[in-house]
Amino acid sequence: MEADEIIRLEQRYVLGTYKRAPFVLERGEGAYLYDTRGRRYLDMVAGIAVNALGYGDAEVLGAMAAQARRLMHVSNLYHTAPHALLARDLVECSFADRVFFCNSGTEANEAALKFARKWQRVNRPGEDRSEIIAFTGSFHGRTMGALSVTHREKYRTPFEPLLPGVRFLPFNDVAAARRGIGPQTGAVIVEPLQGEGGVNPATSEFLQALRDSCDAHGALLIFDEVQCGLGRTGTLWAYEPSGVTPDLMTLAKPLGGGLPLGATLLTERVAAAIAPGDHGSTFAANPVVCEVARVVLSRITAPGFLEDVRRRSAYLEERLRELQRRHRLVVEVRGRGLIWGVELSVDAAPLVTAGYERGLIVTTAGERVLRIVPPLVVNEAQIDEAVTIIDGLLTEAERPEA
Ligand SMILES: *Cc1c(COP(=O)(O)O)cnc(C)c1O
Repeated sequence: MEADEIIRLEQRYVLGTYKRAPFVLERGEGAYLYDTRGRRYLDMVAGIAVNALGYGDAEVLGAMAAQARRLMHVSNLYHTAPHALLARDLVECSFADRVFFCNSGTEANEAALKFARKWQRVNRPGEDRSEIIAFTGSFHGRTMGALSVTHREKYRTPFEPLLPGVRFLPFNDVAAARRGIGPQTGAVIVEPLQGEGGVNPATSEFLQALRDSCDAHGALLIFDEVQCGLGRTGTLWAYEPSGVTPDLMTLAKPLGGGLPLGATLLTERVAAAIAPGDHGSTFAANPVVCEVARVVLSRITAPGFLEDVRRRSAYLEERLRELQRRHRLVVEVRGRGLIWGVELSVDAAPLVTAGYERGLIVTTAGERVLRIVPPLVVNEAQIDEAVTIIDGLLTEAERPEA
């Protein structure tokens, strides 16, 4: 089928919640995507930080096919080995003692908010602990609970009223956090590195202040590592360099290796408040996605993998800082590991569109930030290729007539 015809069908029959790029993708290989016209694109989006191992990874495909032949879905009424083993693997490499599985990032956050509320209900009966603290620039998802703690007005306003008791404090503001978190607070939710909000790393002092205030007032601390977790920032968990651990943590994007999987990790102290029937999911963590997730986790935690991510991170950072020195449109370059934002003094969307013409896929984070989130297996030559194209896009955008 011709690309134009496919695009016409999507525009005619699919609900218009997305503005899609003007080509039709057909296959992927490593860090490259190919469209139906045979054009090749270097992919610096990776399905929005999902495809950590790139496209067509042999071990992922092998695990998926083998498990699909054995057993694909039975619901959560029954035990299966892949489910048990993945939960063990996640606990063994994190702060957590238990895992709840779901299908997406927003669901992982819904679960975290419910578990935090239940914990307060069980441990502090009679107290009003309904306040949830979130932060400016946050993105936690699109369902009503997660949307309630998402900061951007454009996403929220059409759907109000949202969950009551949510208060936004300024991100990375230690004094405001100390003042704002109190005996009325039930939970605090934060991304250790904000993705959609513009690629903003939280400072260690800020995360430590949240931990201290939560402990002082009996509130639970939730880290949303849906985008920044699982090696994206150069450590397995984005919270690691801060030395601060949460009470709950949410994961999704890269966890299922391209299949839908979310998870809410929690300490035993919090888990003790949860009983059968409190939460659930029909689809979550089927044996196929669990087998794939075990491959993803074992590869990211394999000796040398994250050191290598950090090496390529340093290289990408150096190349992006060069761009910043050479182009007046670049206001700031920030990030960690293999998630970087290039903040511009103009809208970033036209550069994304122009990138498609040159065979590069990048995306935005907010209005003025180009977001670069390649597969974690991207190599230096591919980084050079991406930076060269972005260099050309910036040069073009800086021409007086542009
Ligand atoms: C993408 C994202 C979500 C939402 O995940 P979905 O799978 O799209 O529901 C939540 N939190 C963060 C930090 C994200 O980047």
